[in-house]
Amino acid sequence: MRIVRDLPALRAATETMRRAGERVALVPTMGALHAGHLALVEAARREADRVITSIFVNPLQFGPNEDFSKYPRTEEADLAALEAAGCDIAWLPTVEVMYPPGAATVIEVAGPTEGFEGAARPGHFRGVATVCCKLFSQTEADVAVFGEKDWQQLQVIRRMVADLDLPLDILGHPIVRDADGLALSSRNRYLSPAERAKAAMLPEAMREAANAMLHGAAIESALDAARDGLNAAGFDVNYLALVEPETLRPTDALPARMIAAAKLGPVRLLDNMPVG
Ligand code: AMP
Repeated sequence: MRIVRDLPALRAATETMRRAGERVALVPTMGALHAGHLALVEAARREADRVITSIFVNPLQFGPNEDFSKYPRTEEADLAALEAAGCDIAWLPTVEVMYPPGAATVIEVAGPTEGFEGAARPGHFRGVATVCCKLFSQTEADVAVFGEKDWQQLQVIRRMVADLDLPLDILGHPIVRDADGLALSSRNRYLSPAERAKAAMLPEAMREAANAMLHGAAIESALDAARDGLNAAGFDVNYLALVEPETLRPTDALPARMIAAAKLGPVRLLDNMPVG
């Protein structure tokens, strides 16, 4: 596996692949890699001849009071895991490489950014869209793989790629969960043992609400019951909603996607699942 930290070296490496006619897949990450990220790398390997995984904690997608400086950074372990997973290039730009002095261009996606994570984290999707557009351009990938863990992000990326006619395919990968159902996340390490034990109540409550809806319960009362149960158990539910899968517009028609964000101790947990 090549470890690349500057743009000329990345261009040279991808040029060789392109000349050989190889299909290139990109897996964008912020590092602190876990089995969810590695499943994306494996999916990328099945999709393409060569896999580039980027590790970049993107300052542009963090708000001023968010955890940019405290976001976990585990480069050595990440590189070992990527090598073992069969990644060909680890792309690790610095902030200066990604945003040289004078950088003044951002990508603003409307539509699916407008509620939920977009409302809770102003500017977040501007940062995500900008860095992903740059990563697509830097790597000239033929396909990029994203986790359904960040459902709204996946829809924002699909919207941007369609709107800007970007020449790559976007592949979504199902959520990888721990044995108790909690979606894997780099931030789960900040849960105390007691909080970690409780955290699986989020997907459980969502699954119960989904089942109730499928058995004819009114959408709002099923969502209310899930919210109330979680809040009573010590979660602080930010949103728990049923939305159209692609537009993220609230809906009460099935099939749909249930999406949720809830704070538990220091961690904001995200989850989502199909309903119907
Ligand atoms: P992150 O490093 O958290 O920004 O995530 C990088 C990519 O990994 C994104 O496409 C995420 O959606 C995806 N990802 C993170 N956690 C999971 C998970 N548990 N299952 C599947 N994909 C995931």
